[in-house]
Amino acid sequence: MRLSRYFLPVLKENPAEAQIVSHRLMLRAGMIKQQAAGIYSWLPLGFKVLKRIEQIVHEEQIRAGHIPLLMPTLQSADLWRESGRYDAYGPEMLRFKDRHDREMLYGPTNEEMITDIFRAHVSSYKELPLTLYHVQWKFRDEVRPRFGVMRGREFYMKDGYSFDLTKEDALHAYNRHMVSYLRTYERMGLTAIPMRADSGPIGGDNTHEFLVLAQTGESEVFYDAKVPELKLGDREVDYDDRAAVAAICEEFTTLYARTDETHDEAVFNQIPEERRCVGRGIEVGQIFYFGTKYSEAMGATVSTPDGTRVPVEMGSHGIGVSRLLGALIEANHDDKGIIWPEGVTPFHCGIVNLKQGDAATDLACEGLYKALVAKGLEPLYDDREERAGAKFATMDLIGLPWRITVGPRGLANGVVELTSRRTGESEELSAEIAVARITEIYAGK
Ligand code: ATP
Ligand code: MG
Repeated sequence: MRLSRYFLPVLKENPAEAQIVSHRLMLRAGMIKQQAAGIYSWLPLGFKVLKRIEQIVHEEQIRAGHIPLLMPTLQSADLWRESGRYDAYGPEMLRFKDRHDREMLYGPTNEEMITDIFRAHVSSYKELPLTLYHVQWKFRDEVRPRFGVMRGREFYMKDGYSFDLTKEDALHAYNRHMVSYLRTYERMGLTAIPMRADSGPIGGDNTHEFLVLAQTGESEVFYDAKVPELKLGDREVDYDDRAAVAAICEEFTTLYARTDETHDEAVFNQIPEERRCVGRGIEVGQIFYFGTKYSEAMGATVSTPDGTRVPVEMGSHGIGVSRLLGALIEANHDDKGIIWPEGVTPFHCGIVNLKQGDAATDLACEGLYKALVAKGLEPLYDDREERAGAKFATMDLIGLPWRITVGPRGLANGVVELTSRRTGESEELSAEIAVARITEIYAGK
C-alpha cells in the first residue's frame, strides 16, 4: 500500500477523551472513530489489525478441531424466555420490537441460539463431540463503556460452544479450549494467564479467565512470579490426546494465579514472598464448563449407547477479539506510539523515502516495494511529499515492527537502513538483503 493513496487519518493532538494509552493511540493512529458511546467505526488500519487477530483465532480454533459457523446478531426474545434468561439478563441487554411487534434483542452472547441449532439437528451421541463457534458482533449496554474498544457496547467476540455426551468428554473440550487459547495469545505475542475464575451459582472449578497483565487492567490479580514465564513455544499439540492436553493445562494452572474474585490470601501466602505478585490484568478470554444448564432447560438431548436420552453436556468459551487490540497496545507501546508484535501487525514493514521526487530514490523504493510484494508481504510505502521527521513520526505512531529507510546518501553506498521499531536499532544493508531479512522474520507467521 502506498501511503499517498491510503486512508490513515492520524491525529496530531492527544484526544482529550482518552484516559488510557491504548485508546489514545488507537485514535491518534487513525484506527477507530467513535460513533456513539462504546460504538466505533473501524478505520482501515484498525480494521486490518482486527482481521489479523480474527484470522489467528480462526486458525487456532480450526487446528483444535472446532467448527466455524455464523449466527445472526439479532435474536428473538422467545428463545431467551426458554432458558429463563430474558428476564434475568437485566439492562445490559438491548431489547426492541420489530414492525410486527415481536420482541427482539441484539445478542450479548449465543448459548440459547446454539442450543436451538443443536436440538434441531443432533439427536445421537454418535454425532459427538461437537464444538461450533463463530466470531460475531455482540451488544451489551454497559453502564460505563470506556477505554475505547476495551469496554465497548458493541464489540467483536469469538464464542464457541462445546457439546459432549459425558462430563469427562466435556472437560476434555474445556482443556482443548484452554490450550488453543494459550496458542492463540502466544501467536499474537501476548502473555495471557489462565486464572481460576468465579463460576457463580453453578460452582466448581470449571471456569478460567485469561488475563493480560497491564497497569490499566480492570481486574486485580494475584499470581506466582513464575506463571508469566510459562510458554507453550513451538511444541506440537495433538488435540485428540486427552492426557497430553490435560498435562498442558495442569502445567499452566497449578501455580497460583487468581483474580480478586477467587483470591485466597492464605493459599497465596504459602508462595515464597519474593514470588508473590499483585497487579492488574485485562480479561481477554474465558472458558466455562456448565454441564446441562441450557440443554436441560431447552430440551437438547442425545441418545446414549444404551438407548436412553440425556441432556447434552455443554461449555462456552469466549475470546474478546476487539478488546485484544486494546490489550495488545497496552502491552506493546512506548512514548512514540504502538509497537505491533509481528503476528498481528497491519503491514509487515514500512518503507520511508527520504527524498520523494528524486529519481534514483523513488526508483529504489519502488524496487523494494515490488520485491517485498513478490515475497507475499504487505509493505506500507510512505511516498508522500513530507519531511523525513514527519514520516518517521507516522511510522513510529502506527507501530510497524520494521522500517526500511531509503535516501540518496545510503544509495550512493549501495545500502538502505533497516530499523527495528522495538529496539530502535538500525542496520545498513543492501536492498536485497533487507528484503531477505524481512522475509525470513515473517516466515511461518
Ligand atoms: P467483563 O467481566 O470484562 O465484563 P465478561 O466476563 O462479562 O467481561 P464474557 O461474557 O466472558 O465477558 O465474554 C468473553 C470475552 O469478551 C471477555 O473475556 C472479554 O475479553 C470480551 N468482552 C466482554 N465484554 C466486553 C466489552 N464490553 N467490550 C469488549 N470486550 C468485551
Ligand atoms: Mg468473562
